[in-house]
Amino acid sequence: MSAREILHFINGQYVPSASGKLFDDRSPVDNRVIARVHEAGRPEVDAAVAAARAALSGPWGRMPVAERAAMLYAVADGINRRFKDFLDAEVADTGKPVSLASHLDIPRGAANFKIFADTVKNVATEFFEMPTPDGAGAINYAIRVPKGVVAVVCPWNLPLLLMTWKVGPALACGNAVVVKPSEESPATAALLGEVMNEVGVPPGVYNVVHGFGPDSAGEFLTTHPDVDAITFTGETRTGSAILRAAASDIKASSMELGGKNPAIVFADADMNVALEATARSVFANCGQVCLGTERVYVERPIFDEFVKRLGDAARIMKPGRPEAEDTKIGPLISLEHREKVLSYYELARQEGATVVAGGGVPDMPDDLKQGAWVQPTVWTGLPETSRVVREEIFGPCCHVTPFDTEEEVIRLANDTPYGLAAAVHTTNLSRAHRVGAKLDVGICWVNSWFLRDLRTPFGGTKHSGIGREGGVHSLEFYTELRNVCIKL
Ligand code: NAD
Repeated sequence: MSAREILHFINGQYVPSASGKLFDDRSPVDNRVIARVHEAGRPEVDAAVAAARAALSGPWGRMPVAERAAMLYAVADGINRRFKDFLDAEVADTGKPVSLASHLDIPRGAANFKIFADTVKNVATEFFEMPTPDGAGAINYAIRVPKGVVAVVCPWNLPLLLMTWKVGPALACGNAVVVKPSEESPATAALLGEVMNEVGVPPGVYNVVHGFGPDSAGEFLTTHPDVDAITFTGETRTGSAILRAAASDIKASSMELGGKNPAIVFADADMNVALEATARSVFANCGQVCLGTERVYVERPIFDEFVKRLGDAARIMKPGRPEAEDTKIGPLISLEHREKVLSYYELARQEGATVVAGGGVPDMPDDLKQGAWVQPTVWTGLPETSRVVREEIFGPCCHVTPFDTEEEVIRLANDTPYGLAAAVHTTNLSRAHRVGAKLDVGICWVNSWFLRDLRTPFGGTKHSGIGREGGVHSLEFYTELRNVCIKL
């Protein structure tokens, strides 16, 4: 049986690549080819951008906000109506446990349309009265207009969720989008085209082109002269390449990039809460969460107990088929990514780390042997200068370091080029506020992890990103604010 094909979605229609170029979409569970994906060349990217541009001057461009918002509610409902299709597609591409994708990826992927539909309906703009020399005065008011054609370039770790996190607000604000999903996880972005058509989103408002980054769809899209803005989530290095390309056209760019996030556990923390949250933040989605923890700092009096129990937590993360109820952890996204993660496992060993748990590849049965499995891993004993402690690995692993004082741990936590997220565990209220405010990150959790109110600002400092998305903050990126000054 030949594998099914995944096509581009341009101007409301599924189309193949004119070049006839296709690439394999493989399951990370067993490395089997699950689909063949059309790779966009410049002609497909041109067509998608032209369709998006044309949509802005069609019915979409004239649609009142309330109607647009209602349409986005219908998109969310459409995803939920086809929940199983989205779930199957996401799980096939990523290998993540069904239990995770059914609670996180798909429902949150749908919810992103509703939250931003609500936001645009309810946000006011500013108004100022001013005096003038003749005494008559003037008034100023701001209006929000869409940016125009927005390029949306996405990663593979939470494909639908992170894509709609951008497409939701972009469409709510009246833009048209061209999405370039990750080459590793093209299926749900493609499937969303069906929902857009089903609920009557006009052709050209939502387009999808498939392919890779450099010299492929990603580069063709982000360097396209008729794209007005780029919103990107992915690696810091890629973000930097896209920013360089965007500079020549002065394209507005929103960057959600990598992290090397710390978790800080004080001796006064509730041990069970701190352990549960930290284990989740290290191992969830096989460590492939940008907000995940890879550096853990534990106050010395509880260091040994914490390390032992975190190692125990790693050992009970049972790998297995996505649909099996007892599966606690899936594979990494690809064999290529596994090579990268295993290179850090090897480096940790060479540098003399104590391997508390894991450190290798689990013994998987049958066809699963071909998949991208790694063991959840906990290390201690490395210096802070080690590449294992400094570089983003993006796997189910962390290094645990003891500390003695609050000042010391703040310095250690901030000593990184990244600044995405942090978690602090303490029952001392003053300390929670004090430390939370001193960590140079976009989001700091206290006694929790991954608790997300979608109205709050989300983004990174330093090499973790530029700009904030979420709630009204997304409007700052997806609209242009114009001031009208009227002399009375
Ligand atoms: P990646 O940077 O390799 O790829 C992301 C996307 O960019 C893909 O669609 C890829 O095809 C495209 N791309 C690559 N090179 C390009 C180029 N030169 N021009 C245009 N497009 C290009 O990232 P990934 O491996 O898919 O995702 C993992 C990374 O994403 C990690 O670093 C993780 O921390 C980060 N991430 C960040 C956030 C956040 O919100 N800050 C969220 C999730 C993931």
